Amino acid sequence: MLFSQVAGQEEIKASLIKSINNNQISHCYIFEGPKGMGKYELALIFAQSLLCEKFISNPCNECLSCVKMNSENHPDLHVINHEEDTIKREEIDALIESIYKKPYESERKIYIIKAAHEMTVQAANTFLKTLEEPPGDSVVILLTTNANLLLPTIVSRCQTIKFRNVSRETIKSYLKENCSAADKDAAIAAEYSGGILNKAVNIIKGNDDILNKRAEIINLFDKIINSDSEIIYELENYFEDNKDNIDIFIENSMIWIRDIMFVQNNMDELMINKDFNRLAKIHGQSMKRDSNLIELMQNTSDNIKSNVNYKLAIDNMLLKIQEVFK
Ligand SMILES: [Zn+2]
Repeated sequence: MLFSQVAGQEEIKASLIKSINNNQISHCYIFEGPKGMGKYELALIFAQSLLCEKFISNPCNECLSCVKMNSENHPDLHVINHEEDTIKREEIDALIESIYKKPYESERKIYIIKAAHEMTVQAANTFLKTLEEPPGDSVVILLTTNANLLLPTIVSRCQTIKFRNVSRETIKSYLKENCSAADKDAAIAAEYSGGILNKAVNIIKGNDDILNKRAEIINLFDKIINSDSEIIYELENYFEDNKDNIDIFIENSMIWIRDIMFVQNNMDELMINKDFNRLAKIHGQSMKRDSNLIELMQNTSDNIKSNVNYKLAIDNMLLKIQEVFK
């Protein structure tokens, strides 16, 4: 593994590498950022670097320690993985028991706790005790989407590293180099990813429906704005069938609305769906400016997530879309 395998986050990588070279390693890190930013991948590379016998700005990938890391078989790397349920006290008790023992082979032991905010209060309190008297040969890396969900007393004893959204350009080059994506596909996936690398990779690999549905949804949007209010009844089944992935409709629509706004302002080069430029121009002629339509779509998505009546939220959204295009 190499640091370059995680796209972006250059400042974070530089500071981690520097801390190893200067031997200024914290005993506990928090990697904070949205899902899909490469926090776990970077934690693994950092762990490998800390255990590597010949580290120079990257793990050597040749020493025994690196070989074991690359085959996911290193006795001094411990990963607690709870994406779905809570991390219970017994699990933290086991961690603590192991943390005060000597490493098996290396000079250090590394603990990665995924979704650290899933620790129960008892687990977190138990964990806190190890931070009060940290053993010198252990490094703990807590991964979380939001450090505010951790106990403040834990956060204050750790070094927090915030992952930032990756620039569209960085994601685009990454997709071209690592996923053999064509320029046009890479640009669209980078834009649809919202700066989240793994999401972009999933779009390119076809694991994410967003791209496949792009044309379908733009055409549906066209139909909605060119129909009268009867369309709400006509589309009832469509939206009921797509209830579980309504975000695909909403996200695509938001990107399409933004495209229309670019065209209205003669900024066509910023469009994502460039292959629909002609239609965007037509829509741009009838869309009211300053309509707040993107905000409305976002609110619809939020409302549905907070269990507002689904049908009501959709009907309301469709009516507002029609209003803005009259
Ligand atoms: Zn090595």
